[in-house]
Amino acid sequence: MTIATINPATGEVLKTYDEMAPDGVERRIAAATEGFATLRRTSFAQRAEWMEAAARILEAEREPVARMMTTEMGKTLAAARAEVTKCAAGCRHYAGHAERYLADEAADAQAVGASAAYVRYQPIGPLLAVMPWNFPLWQVIRFAAPALMAGNTGLLKHASNVPQTALFLEDLFRRAGFPEGAFQTLLVGSDRVEAVLTDRRVRAATLTGSEGAGRSVARIAGAHVKKTVLELGGSDPFVVMPSADIDRAAAVAVTARCQNNGQSCIAAKRFIVHADVWDRFTAAFVERMSALVVGDPMDEDTGIGPLAMRQVRDDVAAQVDDARKRGARVLCGGEVPDRPGWWYPPTVVTDLDPQMRMWSEEVFGPAASLIRVADYEEAIRIANDVDFGLGANAWTTDPDEQERFATDLDSGQVFVNGMVTSYPQLPFGGVKNSGYGRELSAQGIREFCNIKTVWIGPVEVTDRRRTAQATE
Ligand code: NAP
Repeated sequence: MTIATINPATGEVLKTYDEMAPDGVERRIAAATEGFATLRRTSFAQRAEWMEAAARILEAEREPVARMMTTEMGKTLAAARAEVTKCAAGCRHYAGHAERYLADEAADAQAVGASAAYVRYQPIGPLLAVMPWNFPLWQVIRFAAPALMAGNTGLLKHASNVPQTALFLEDLFRRAGFPEGAFQTLLVGSDRVEAVLTDRRVRAATLTGSEGAGRSVARIAGAHVKKTVLELGGSDPFVVMPSADIDRAAAVAVTARCQNNGQSCIAAKRFIVHADVWDRFTAAFVERMSALVVGDPMDEDTGIGPLAMRQVRDDVAAQVDDARKRGARVLCGGEVPDRPGWWYPPTVVTDLDPQMRMWSEEVFGPAASLIRVADYEEAIRIANDVDFGLGANAWTTDPDEQERFATDLDSGQVFVNGMVTSYPQLPFGGVKNSGYGRELSAQGIREFCNIKTVWIGPVEVTDRRRTAQATE
């Protein structure tokens, strides 16, 4: 894949980059290793000062950074601005909380025959981060802020279509004051990941992206006994029960499906609606989906911009066409417009069955599957009937049902009467083919730490006396 900025709104190639030569990558791995030796010895207070500085730079440069992201991958400017703000907050969160998240934890010393026993969290070394283009800043910050605050160093292999954002990120941490080698970008294609991952100085890897990429990285890392955290795809259910506020649910459903032009791992993709409220929900949802303003992502009025790459657009179109061909009904959208760039309209598809691709695959664009169910049990069965398990949305005002959804949905996070979102305060990750490990919160920062047991033996009274006498 070429490393280039291609404006998805027009298809125009704006800037291409040469891949880094192997000796350039080698220099960066060496710098990450030396940087680790320095960073691990700095105090939390010092690292927090640098991380705060990164937050301030993001805030000060919000507008140009947002425009850069919109140009590279087509998210609306409003969404890009919000992403920069979220990144600054993420940096601040870890600046303020890392020390507490990683404080020594006392154990029951007496139970293990020690005078003291505790758990100490320590950094493990240079980490490789393979990242996607969909939230090109946030996906990286949510890895980098905890990793650097823990004292690890980072090597970023970003998606090949967001090179400017990748280079900005390296520059961000350097300008914030982090030592040489603390955070660096490798401008390489995915075929060069293996060489970096198998280098003995690189201690672990995190990948956010597709299932295929995750499997590949996990296989290589496994063969070299290196830990991985995988944040992969999702096909989140959005269940609507009779007691729900249907108008609110329909409004949030549109945002949940079409956020980031439909390209979010935690976008709601399958709308599972109880028969009693099916007509009302369907009418409100289709009306709101059809009303979304599709247009130039730089325009303030635009609700939804282009998809990031031709391939992404073609995949969504093929999934909808497959459903239509097999008998599904398209309630709105569903046609690729004739204009330059990678556009696809907000689309709602119903009368689906398990043979259709949309039933089981992730749809990474603004096309929603709408499925009618008779009762709670059927809703749960269909919600869990995919190989993904990232997030899940449930709409009900019945407290018993809320509890049951929280327990019964097979996913890394369940949001009731709201849409799945990531917060620095809460763990984020999936089950099943959505991956493993967690990002964010205390759980996230500990993923790349050596969870070290420290046991200090009791000092025998007689020994102590003898020692005292000997020194008297
Ligand atoms: P992708 O094609 O897997 O790319 C993600 C990253 O992996 C890119 O840097 C890519 O490099 C690299 N890559 C691709 N194949 C690889 C391989 N075989 N070995 C090593 N690296 C490889 O995914 P995408 O299309 O950019 O992103 C969309 C996917 O990411 C969706 O499935 C989405 O659900 C998922 N996602 C998950 C989360 C989450 O938190 N769970 C968040 C966001 C996105 P190149 O660009 O050079 O190919």
